Amino acid sequence: MAVDAEAVVKELRSTYTSGKTTTYEWRASQLKALLKIATHHERDIIEALRSDLNKPEHEAFVHEIAAVSSACKLALKELHRWMKPQKVKTTITTFPSSAEIVPEPLGVVLIISTWNYPFSLSLDPVVGAIAAGNTVVLKPSEVAPATSSLLSKLLGEYVDTSGVKVIEGAVPETTALLEQKWDKIFFTGNGTVGRIVLSAAAKHLTPVVLELGGKCPVVIDANINLKVAARRLISGKWGMNNGQTCVAPDYIITTKEYASEVVDTISSELEKFYGKDPLQSKDLSSIINTRHFDRLAKLLDDVKVSGKIVHGGQSDKTNLRIAPTILLDVPEDSLIMKDEIFGPLLPIITVNKIEDCFGVINGKGKPLAAYMFTNDKKLKEEFIRSVSAGGMIINDTVLHLAEPGLPFGGVGESGMGAYHGKFSFDAFSHQKAVLQRSFMGDVAARYPPYTPWKLRFLKALLGGDILGIFRALVGW
Ligand code: NAD
Repeated sequence: MAVDAEAVVKELRSTYTSGKTTTYEWRASQLKALLKIATHHERDIIEALRSDLNKPEHEAFVHEIAAVSSACKLALKELHRWMKPQKVKTTITTFPSSAEIVPEPLGVVLIISTWNYPFSLSLDPVVGAIAAGNTVVLKPSEVAPATSSLLSKLLGEYVDTSGVKVIEGAVPETTALLEQKWDKIFFTGNGTVGRIVLSAAAKHLTPVVLELGGKCPVVIDANINLKVAARRLISGKWGMNNGQTCVAPDYIITTKEYASEVVDTISSELEKFYGKDPLQSKDLSSIINTRHFDRLAKLLDDVKVSGKIVHGGQSDKTNLRIAPTILLDVPEDSLIMKDEIFGPLLPIITVNKIEDCFGVINGKGKPLAAYMFTNDKKLKEEFIRSVSAGGMIINDTVLHLAEPGLPFGGVGESGMGAYHGKFSFDAFSHQKAVLQRSFMGDVAARYPPYTPWKLRFLKALLGGDILGIFRALVGW
């Protein structure tokens, strides 16, 4: 169905101009409505995610439902504080005065979402947009149709649709939406579409948040608790949507000497988690569709020739299943090392000494996340200092997303802007600078006619030279 994008924006702008969405009461009532969706419709959400991705209930609950309800709860708890103007100290330059930063909503915002966490990655930014007092259009991903349709139905029933709307659709609908003037566009998806969004936004000078992806490295140093490292790596790779996660470990870097121990330990833990025939495991998501299945199969075919499959490799196209697969000594110029894998394949690059990892990582685009397992203090410090990434974890994977005190977003190729917790509120707010003065303290030195005395006085004032100010005042 064609979208009348212009009419949608017009209605939302009129609601925004009425001022109702900027009140605490409206924001809180809408956040409560989102919380109700997540808590009252757990079963419907789990079923939609099963239909789209065959996502295990455990993952659907933890990564999607609980993620949204905790974001709503945090926003409801902190909303008064977030909305409050923040006092700022003033200087002698404006004395006497008071200053504050007043957060204000941006207006009418567009959120374009993706398919891998189609429930949480749609509603998480909506929580921020509503908390900040905006009116919103959410465009969920057509690639996860069951969740898209559920979001449209539930938001239609629970939220105030004069301020929050869901527009379903694919490229034509998104293109029509992108032609409109928005006050912010928040996009989650790949970098190619990110560039389309950015150029559409440029026409209207609209600010954007781009939540993109990239190749997230995992460095594995020797002399660590390898079993714990393997379990944490598996959890972040295959335990999150079978590798279809923006912050999933994309490739491992370890030393030539340590590689076989790394492979053996990960393989043995994988078997404990998913059994001898992982294609039958109920605890692994399927690949989203045949297009992505074929893309991953092509990556695998390419390395079969040049690299070594040391674990897994099985697939079942009819059921869109690919087993957790590890590839050792993959050439750096192979297809699999070019773009983000976004699936259950995990190549290992080996280096002579672990410090060589920095050259490998920094030779690629800045990743959304970077991970290192080590006990070496110096190596850890070097990793934090010299690797630029959206976020990083030492001795675990993906868990930084669960900390609302940390911003979640990319840098360089992996995106721009960030959200989660208060950062979500800030992403959809303008920080307005407000300075207040009375009619006292009107300093003549500001005004013409300019004289040497006035200049001497201002030089002393702006230079913080108390004695100079005194001298200028008494004509000394
Ligand atoms: P997708 O195919 O669902 O596309 C994302 C959105 O863009 C959809 O709503 C879609 O309708 C729209 N779209 C697609 N083509 C378009 C076009 N030509 N013009 C306008 N709109 C268009 O999702 P995807 O891009 O395959 O998502 C996977 C990517 O997203 C991966 O790179 C992944 O790393 C990244 N991702 C990032 C995050 C993050 O938070 N940083 C989270 C999840 C996924």
